[in-house]
Amino acid sequence: MKKIKNKFIIIPILTSILSLCMLLFMNYSNSSVPYKSYISFQKDVSKKIVSTVYMTDSSQIRVKLKNGSIYDTDNPRTPNAKEVLLNDGISVSEQYTVNNRQAYPTAILIISIMTAVFMALKFSNKSSKKIVSLDSLDASAIEDSNCNFKSVAGNEEAKESVQDIVDFLKNPKKYASYGARMPKGILLFGEPGTGKTLLARAIAGEAEVPFYAVSGSDFVQVYVGVGASRIRQLFKKAKSNKSGKAVIFIDEIDAIGKKRDGSGSTGGSDERDQTLNALLTEMSGFNEKEGIVIIAATNRLDMLDPALLRPGRFDRHIEVTLPDVSSREKIISLHLKNKPVDNIDVHEWAQKTSYFSGAKIESLINEAAILACKEDSTYIENKHIDKAFSIVLTGYEKKDRDYIKDIDKRITAYHEVGHALVSSKVLPNEKISKITIIPSTKGAGGYTLSIPEDKLYQNKDYLRKRIMVLLGGRAAEEVIFGADYVTTGAYNDLQHSTNIAFKMVTQYGMGNTLGLLNMRELSDLNINQNEIIKECKCLTDSIYNDVKNILIENRHCLKATVQLLMEKETLFSNDLKNLFN
Ligand code: ADP
Ligand code: MG
Ligand code: ZN
Repeated sequence: MKKIKNKFIIIPILTSILSLCMLLFMNYSNSSVPYKSYISFQKDVSKKIVSTVYMTDSSQIRVKLKNGSIYDTDNPRTPNAKEVLLNDGISVSEQYTVNNRQAYPTAILIISIMTAVFMALKFSNKSSKKIVSLDSLDASAIEDSNCNFKSVAGNEEAKESVQDIVDFLKNPKKYASYGARMPKGILLFGEPGTGKTLLARAIAGEAEVPFYAVSGSDFVQVYVGVGASRIRQLFKKAKSNKSGKAVIFIDEIDAIGKKRDGSGSTGGSDERDQTLNALLTEMSGFNEKEGIVIIAATNRLDMLDPALLRPGRFDRHIEVTLPDVSSREKIISLHLKNKPVDNIDVHEWAQKTSYFSGAKIESLINEAAILACKEDSTYIENKHIDKAFSIVLTGYEKKDRDYIKDIDKRITAYHEVGHALVSSKVLPNEKISKITIIPSTKGAGGYTLSIPEDKLYQNKDYLRKRIMVLLGGRAAEEVIFGADYVTTGAYNDLQHSTNIAFKMVTQYGMGNTLGLLNMRELSDLNINQNEIIKECKCLTDSIYNDVKNILIENRHCLKATVQLLMEKETLFSNDLKNLFN
């Protein structure tokens, strides 16, 4: 609508240009009137061939002869000039007819310019209003059933965790009839480029509901209150669509939901608070039956304000991880689909692209397609991906993990398998659900996810075994690579194990130095801390030796598992069960 109106400004501009052309043309034809001296004019007068003289105030007057020709001559400016001419039988006109002819285009020109200026002012008014306007947020619904779970390769766990949301969006009444409360907010977190936005769109596409996407940074405005109002507007818009169901996606939610630091608030953070509060109010304002789900995404879960994560808000947290080998293979195949490819070993490329995010794989394939196109090659071939690979690698900063050398991967693998193997030997009842060498927010190099048994009490033996599992990573490094080549990767493990050992000796009454005494209660006394540290060290040392022995005994199993982990990058409990028994 507004665009059509915008076009009308063309009309006054056109008319003004036309009238300007006319004026110029007239002036040109004006100036082509010949000039004759006053003397020759007087001769013409005496010859009685002059028909009309056009008198004006300007320096020249125009003369029309009886034969129709026109010329200009100097204005004598004598007071009786007119009388003289009239006496000679020459008609005298005091109106400059040529000027008369110019009056029309001049008027049109002036009117057109005024209209154009007026219209331009009105538009600029409108568009400047748009920036300030509280209710114009560009969150138009996208209904894109082309984007569904098929467009997301890999990420199986994440897809599984949102399956019920999709069901709910398809049929909210069914869930309501069971009295089931759906999570209102889902938080997707994970490294950039892992496909969080994609997954959110896929959820909407899969459920066939409109998708409203905004970014947290859109709400960070100069004017206080604008962000909050935009939030309200967004929800209103989503609720008022015809199906009443919607997915609202807030990307980069950390921009509005950053942890509030206690230090005095500045203007900017005031604004953010208002926006955040508006979001929380809106979220509690609609009920679960309505079929609206809010999905937020962030790269950093730990940066978020805990208020956002409470039940009834974003209470389901789904990690979107970097893809492992098999997922990468799927992503590569997906992006190669519908492209002319020849002889590309997808499996091999999946191996080579460890630590690549989905977005990076996408750009790798795209780069290869561009190269193939540049060469006018019929197909995208291996060599194109090869070239693209180095482009993509150098295109990103060095600190990126793509350059992690094989040896680093190997160390991580030994470290993680060390944890898992020790765990399976000393705590066979604890299920190890997953080990991976793909970094995640849970661990820098990789991580081992084990599900501890439920226990009311933790006995001394159990605590010892916990320390054993924690030391398993470092011990594996030492057993395989030698004491001089252990890494900093065990930093976190050692923190935990030290904590447990210290508590055993000083708080749980499981040590010798203090016996059953609790160190905290004795804090006023001057007790010998060295003794306590010595005992903790002895305890840990002896546990460490046991751990190393376990690993040495199971060296073959350790190596075989590492071999497989290097290949697959992620191992699940099934793989491990076979390997460890
Ligand atoms: P994020 O929001 O996590 O930063 P995006 O969803 O914006 O990541 O991903 C960017 C692009 O990377 C997507 O548009 C898609 O082309 C590609 N991509 C990422 N992950 C996947 C995946 N699992 N399957 C297919 N493509 C993916
Ligand atoms: Mg994104
Ligand atoms: Zn570890």
